[in-house]
Amino acid sequence: MTQTPLPPPPGSPEAVAKGCTCPVLDNARGLGWKGGVKDPETGETLYVMQIDFPLHGRIAA
Ligand SMILES: [Zn+2]
Repeated sequence: MTQTPLPPPPGSPEAVAKGCTCPVLDNARGLGWKGGVKDPETGETLYVMQIDFPLHGRIAA
């Protein structure tokens, strides 16, 4: 079983160490917005992200 490599979650210590500027507290230090709110449609954890920052912003194609 393989997993697609992803950048560390926004606000997590790993992401911050890589220069992430996303809000740490709003993302509960990597757990997700307000501690892990899920998107009702996709079931994915929501994060507050800085869209103009490379690590979690627009991914270059
Ligand atoms: Zn970030």
